[in-house]
Amino acid sequence: MTTFQGKSVLVLGGSRGIGAAIVRRFANDGANVTFTYAGSRAAADELAAETKTTAVQTDSSSRDAVIARVRESGPLDVLVVNAGIAVFGDALEQDPDAIDRLFQINIHAPYHASVEAARQMPDGGRIIVIGSVNGDRMPIPGMASYAVSKSALQGLARGLARDFGPRGITINVVQPGPIDTDANPENGPMKDLMHSFMAIKRHGRPEEVAGMVAWLAGPEAGFVTGAMHTIDGAFGA
Ligand code: NDP
Repeated sequence: MTTFQGKSVLVLGGSRGIGAAIVRRFANDGANVTFTYAGSRAAADELAAETKTTAVQTDSSSRDAVIARVRESGPLDVLVVNAGIAVFGDALEQDPDAIDRLFQINIHAPYHASVEAARQMPDGGRIIVIGSVNGDRMPIPGMASYAVSKSALQGLARGLARDFGPRGITINVVQPGPIDTDANPENGPMKDLMHSFMAIKRHGRPEEVAGMVAWLAGPEAGFVTGAMHTIDGAFGA
């Protein structure tokens, strides 16, 4: 359980759900973990106390705040960009400001955080961005902006892998299917529809996603970069 002993890890969006599972996983594996949150101060403080990690408020909708946070973190061995939101509804009715905010959080922040992290990252560093199987498949209406944002991460990983590869820095996208979190609770109204698309008819657990992230950040994955890693019970198959 000491795979990441002494390693410096920053998780953007770590207070709840998948991000919190990632924080727990790296902390249990010996890393020095800092994570950000937007509004959930109580959850963040509780998790930080439980895991002996550091919580800092940084809103991923602010490009400059994200860049400053990454810069102030110093040389990171691992950056995980997990913070993400969805805005549901009729594309013809949606507030363009809300859609642009989604793009800021889901696309701009991952891009700028990845580039900023790579400036100080040692050779062999790891960048992992949480995308979605909806980057590959969007079987329902009302989520086009989310699908756009998660598809964009695929280009981010493919392109930045070329820029960072000469230093052995890898960048990968983890693409979950339905995962049981506040954003997508297994007991929610969409359960049966979502499970109808899947071969394994249950929501995934945040810990299962954290396991894939840990593998990508670990010593066995040094040759894995510019790639999408789907963990979805065959939602997208
Ligand atoms: P949750 O809504 O349960 O948790 C989101 C986390 O991201 C929270 O810690 C939240 O912080 C943080 N966050 C959200 N907005 C911001 C922001 N502006 N600045 C900083 N932090 C922010 O989501 P999930 O755990 O379900 O999702 C995590 C990631 O996984 C997202 O990128 C999502 O798109 C992706 N994903 C999730 C799936 C699912 O079914 N759950 C499926 C596929 C992908 P705070 O607590 O302060 O709000």
